[in-house]
Amino acid sequence: MAGLSELYQNVILEHNRSPRNYRVLENANREAEGNNPLCGDQLTVWLRMEDDVIQEATFQGSGCAISKASASLMTGAVKGKSRRQAEELFDRFHRLVTGRLEPSEPETLGKLAVFSGVSAFPIRVKCASLSWHALKAALDQPGKIVSTEQP
Ligand code: ZN
Repeated sequence: MAGLSELYQNVILEHNRSPRNYRVLENANREAEGNNPLCGDQLTVWLRMEDDVIQEATFQGSGCAISKASASLMTGAVKGKSRRQAEELFDRFHRLVTGRLEPSEPETLGKLAVFSGVSAFPIRVKCASLSWHALKAALDQPGKIVSTEQP
């Protein structure tokens, strides 16, 4: 089992300390909230979509270092992506944190690859994917509140 020190890589700690895109998005046209009651993570994701492209993504909330750093990196990673590209990225990210990624795939994740250590800590998978679930909800059903503890 990987040590906690390996999980909390510098990139994660740094994004937790000073999260990127951490603000309410004034001209957002999509919004969803995510809750992870197991850890107490709660965040809201805002998007500004134009046509089918995510022009801007921001978030705010409270939670553990993993959930916050993940939201920080997620909002940066999906900017400029089409809805389909963002969903494909979520799919790869989810396979990364659950340890089901093909060996050739990590390089396609860029900075998001720092979350690979999460796969050794099943309870942290929900923390790492919370912002992504909120993103997907904002794309599918704006205004929805998603919980990691609902089917
Ligand atoms: Zn958490």
